[in-house]
Amino acid sequence: MRAARISGFGGPEVFAVTDIPTPEPTAGEVLVRLRAAALNRADVLVREGRFPEAPQPPMTLGVEGAGEVAALGARVDGLTVGDRVVVNPMRTCGECEDCRNGRDNACAHLQFVGEHFDGTYAEYIAVPVRGVVPSPDALDDHQLAAGLLAYMTAWHMLRTRAAVRPDETVLVVGAGSGVASAAVQVAKALGANVIATTSGERKVERVRALGADEVIDYRTTPDFDQAVRRLTGGRGADIAHETVGNATVRRSVQSVRHGGRVVGMGSHTGRLAEIDLSVLYRREISLIGCHASNRAEIDEFLPLLADGTLTPVIDSVHPLAHAAEAQARLDSPERFGKVVMTIE
Ligand SMILES: [Zn+2]
Repeated sequence: MRAARISGFGGPEVFAVTDIPTPEPTAGEVLVRLRAAALNRADVLVREGRFPEAPQPPMTLGVEGAGEVAALGARVDGLTVGDRVVVNPMRTCGECEDCRNGRDNACAHLQFVGEHFDGTYAEYIAVPVRGVVPSPDALDDHQLAAGLLAYMTAWHMLRTRAAVRPDETVLVVGAGSGVASAAVQVAKALGANVIATTSGERKVERVRALGADEVIDYRTTPDFDQAVRRLTGGRGADIAHETVGNATVRRSVQSVRHGGRVVGMGSHTGRLAEIDLSVLYRREISLIGCHASNRAEIDEFLPLLADGTLTPVIDSVHPLAHAAEAQARLDSPERFGKVVMTIE
């Protein structure tokens, strides 16, 4: 099979499309013929050698992918060859106390497709049967590859961890990314009022079209915390959804009301940040960390994907052979939503 693999850690030049043996599904595994792979910032971290748990190259990158079942290993029930599926990037042991009690995101053996082993920039991947999710018919493979992890993350952050209630005000910081654009839709689906930040007129319009009630252009209004206060009559937002990191987290904290919560995951602008603890303490603000969602949360939002309430936002589609260019697009200021590769 063909796969876009890295030959070593480094820049885009380490990519090559090569022929490697198609994996054989072992007992309990399914072989998926991938039709689309979506890109994730984690892919770039692995390529650059900044993810210490990754195996030594050569390695196939890619956390997110969708396609159809091509073969079944022994002892696999409930799936048939040809069924459309999307890969759940989380790989858990399935046996520990946390896994058995529905807290699989706390599994001590949690690993990720494309980070701890070969990923989705390939024609085929073999995964444990609990590592695939049957696809709603309404979505194509590009949308599914682009959607699952972004909504898993946004749902986990807003619905599960921040417990957003109807009529609360949610600030979504940096709404042009895959997760944050999903968060705008999830917050609206939960009945919240949404204030979002992004940059440039074109993106402001796109974020508004996702359902945001107010959009702040941080190029023209860098002190977005002040803008959030003005928009909320001086009170502040109930929740700030923070995925940017050092560049914005201080202002995210400043943006929430007394007793508000800042729910965070991701820190691509820097994971070390200085926060004024007196603001955090005196205003009784909760800082809520997030990492991965559990399997049951997928079943909570999948109906909203199937009925179009949640619509994955795709920035651009690239062929598998252009994996390096596709990754470079992640850092383009023009990017809006997920970057996807199509796998012929
Ligand atoms: Zn486990």
